[in-house]
Formats: sequence, C-alpha cells, structure tokens
Amino acid sequence: MTDAANAAALRPELPPARLWLGGEWVEPEGGRTFTSENPATEEVLCEVASASAADVDRAVAAARGALAGEWGATSARERGKLLWRLADALEERIQDFAVVETLDNGKPIFESRYVDMPSVVDCLRYYAGWADKVAGETLASSGPIGLTYTLREPVGAVGAITPWNFPLLLAAWKIAPALACGNVVIHKPASLTSLTALMLGALAAEVGFPAGVLNVLPGGGSEVGGTMVGHPGIDKIAFTGSTAVGIGIAKQAADTVKRLGLELGGKSANIVFADSDLDAAAKGAFNGIFYGKGEVCAAGSRLLVERTAHDELLEKLVARTERLQPADPLHPKTRLGALVSKEQRDSVLGYVEKGRREGAEVATGGAAAAVDGKGYFMQPTVLTGVDNAMTVAREEIFGPVLVTIPFDDAEEAVALANASVYGLAAGVWTRDVGKAHHVAARLQAGTVWINQYNWYDAGAPFGGYKQSGYGRELGRQALDYYTETKTVFVGK
Ligand code: NAP
Ligand code: MG
Repeated sequence: MTDAANAAALRPELPPARLWLGGEWVEPEGGRTFTSENPATEEVLCEVASASAADVDRAVAAARGALAGEWGATSARERGKLLWRLADALEERIQDFAVVETLDNGKPIFESRYVDMPSVVDCLRYYAGWADKVAGETLASSGPIGLTYTLREPVGAVGAITPWNFPLLLAAWKIAPALACGNVVIHKPASLTSLTALMLGALAAEVGFPAGVLNVLPGGGSEVGGTMVGHPGIDKIAFTGSTAVGIGIAKQAADTVKRLGLELGGKSANIVFADSDLDAAAKGAFNGIFYGKGEVCAAGSRLLVERTAHDELLEKLVARTERLQPADPLHPKTRLGALVSKEQRDSVLGYVEKGRREGAEVATGGAAAAVDGKGYFMQPTVLTGVDNAMTVAREEIFGPVLVTIPFDDAEEAVALANASVYGLAAGVWTRDVGKAHHVAARLQAGTVWINQYNWYDAGAPFGGYKQSGYGRELGRQALDYYTETKTVFVGK
C-alpha cells in the first residue's frame, strides 16, 4: 500500500452531523446540514450540522447555565487540571486530529501532525498553568478608605468565531485562555473546516469539563456568527478572520458595547538586506510564503529586497520554489497541499492574473495544478517587477503567491513595509544587529521576526496594528482579554 492509501485506510472516525451543545450531540433546529469537502480529492467527507439562530439561543442557555452552576463553582486550580487533561487526551489522539484537519483543510499532514496539533496541546498546557495565577491586587488606600483591592473575574460567555486556515489552532488560542479564566465558550468554526472543533468539544466532555462549558456550532457566517455578535447573552466576541468581516462585526458589536477582539488580515513585509546570509534569507522567504500554502494571516507575502542583492536572492528563491511541488497532503513528504476550496484557488489565480495585467512578471509558477487529476492545487508562485502600489502588493492574496519589491536603503524599506493598511507581522534579515533592532522598532507590526519567519509561541502575544485588528492573543496579555477587573473599596 502507498503511504496515502495507508493513511486513508486508517481514516479516523469523523464527527456526526450534530451540534456539540450542552455536553451532547444534538440535532440542529430545522435539521439542516451542509457538506464538508476534501479539497485535495474533491470528495465529500461528511455532512455537518448547520446551526440556526435558535441553536445559538440554546447554546447560550447551556453556557450560562454552566457558568451559574458547576463551572462557576469550579476552582481555578481545578480548571487548570481540566485543561491539562484535555491537552493529554488530545496528545493521545493527535494522529486522528491531524488526519482530520488535513482531510478537511488540504494542508500537508506534516504540518497538521507536527505543527498545528502539537501547538494546540502546548497552548492548552500554557493556559492550564495560568488558571490559578490570575489574581487581583491589593492597592494603596487613600482617604477614609480601609482597604482597596481588585478582583479578576471571567467576562462570562465568550463567542469564538474562527477561520479555516488553522482551524483547531486558532480555536485553541481563544478557548484555552477563556476557559483558564473561568469563562464559558460558544465556538463557531469556519464552514469549510468544522470537524476538529466538533471533535475537541466532545473530547472536553470526556476529560470532565461540565456540560455547556464548550459548545460548538457550525453553520453560516452571518446566520450563526452574526447572531452571536448580536446576542445579549454573549459578553465577548473573539474573532479571527478577514478584515472585511471584522469591520462588519465591530459595527454590529457597537450596538451592545460587546467586548471584542479582532485578529484580521495581513500583507506582511519580509525585508532582506544585502548584508544578510542570503541562503538563510531565501529559505526564510520561501517558508514565510509557502508554509501553510500561503493561507497564513502573517505570511511574508511582500518580499522587500535590497536592490544590490535582489537578483542573487531571487535566483536562490526561484530554484528552491521550483523544487516544491503540490502533492497529496496525506503523504508525509508533502510540503505544499491543496488550497482550501475551489473559490479560494480561483481567487488566488485571479490575483496572479491581475498582477500580470498590472505589469508584474511571473518568475515561477502562476498556474493551477492537480494531483491525480483532482484537487484545488496550484503552483507556488513568485511575481517580480512589482510596485508597492499594485493590487498584488496591497491586497491579501492568502495563497502561495509572493511578490518581490526592491529597495535602496533601510529608510525606504521601512517606508514600503509600513505603506499598507495592515500591520500584522514583518521579517528582517541582516547580520547587522543594530540595524535589525532599529528597523524592528520602526515597523508598524504586531510581530517582528529577525533572521527567521513564522515562529509562534503560546507565551508570546500575537495580534495586529492598524487594520490587522486589535487585542492580543496568547501570552499573559490574553488573560486581560478574558477577564474583567473589579475594584472594591472597603470603608473603615
Ligand atoms: P472570514 O470569511 O472572515 O471568516 C471567518 C469566520 O467568520 C468564519 O467562521 C465565518 O463563517 C465567519 N463569518 C462570516 N461572516 C460573518 C458575519 N457576518 N458575522 C460573523 N461571523 C461571520 O475569513 P476566512 O476566509 O475564514 O479566513 C481568512 C481570513 O482570516 C484572512 O483574511 C486571514 O488573514 C484572516 N486570519 C487572520 C488571523 C490573525 O490572527 N490575524 C489568523 C488567521 C486568519 P463561514 O466560514 O461560515 O463563512
Ligand atoms: Mg473541508
């Protein structure tokens, strides 16, 4: 048997066409379902339950019931233990979760098995450790006051709305800190990739989380997500997705002054100076755009290269890119999977076409591809002759398409990098330590990588400047995101 056939034979059980609500699998009101497709084979994987506004009401009731009951009475230390147990249970089933993520999203099994899922486990453990360390403080008193202190309380019911590119990981970035702080969660996963989220809901119950603490409602973006944003029983929305949808959510959330965190799009600049290790920079530029098929919010999608090194770097980058072939995502050696859907691939190819029309040259790639005659694959693509004002340099393409732009000095590099409505991340490649820190300080980006790209850590905050959103996930900062601070003054 081939590796792929072997993996197919070991296909794990997929979740039922039900919602995970109140600690059990329930039929959606109205009984509607939609299909989940494997973008690498164009096969239907399974039916997924489609929640309605009435289901959001049911989930809110279940969640608030847990908050007022068993979960609200669960000690912080016990919450930490439960999160740790969930991490252990996920680790035991890591292969199943990884295979389902790959089947649903099209990403290489190498990524889901060795990056996404271990990062979910790590995130759960990181916040398990925080659960009993989130505390208020005693403050200096003034005037006729005997005692002043603060309490850190859970915000309440958190509505998590997540995209399809890192389906379980971006859910964990919200669920882990929210539960550590004592909140309850209603999660709406992306319609294209709802499966691992449903599996996580059921696993949480298995390890002992009380019913209603974590509810998973797949379904339409505006129908389920929009209802959550407007729902008076939901206290906070944690959203990761596109800037366009995020703007709509911010407007809608304003009506109820709902707490809101937005992790949105990006068009991140990866800046290569001529004094850098060009082999390392070429590899970093390559991984910065082709990891995750380029469907990565922080992808280094604009490669800014010092003019004197441009051609040499491009040669190394193109040579490396031409060795990367899209292949069966279930094969352990595959490093470029299928784009998540036909629509997504059409959109990415449309950008390549627009780039051509605006004067860019295709240095390599640029076309659709198939594996065994099927799937929404495309060639890894590098566009040169790009000006920062072109559509392909301004808009998020969200696919394996890199644009390269030359610059003459650090001043110009910073100006070009910052000339974007986005500000999610950036990379700097140089052997000059002073220049590296000087440039990092001036970049308008929530994350800056120096001589590396695409590294994340559960302990390091992540989020955007400008239209890449507001609020920070991960790290200690996320604890502020999921707690309210109450000040108590005690009279003498
Ligand atoms: P999207 O279209 O904005 O969808 C994100 C989520 O919002 C999905 O669950 C979607 O549901 C839901 N949604 C759609 N319309 C809604 C509405 N009116 N109200 C409430 N929820 C709604 O984004 P995507 O295409 O899934 O993901 C790609 C985008 O996410 C890119 O722009 C990328 O940069 C961004 N992203 C950002 C980060 C970050 O941390 N900054 C990380 C990853 C991705 P449906 O699936 O049912 O439409
Ligand atoms: Mg799918």
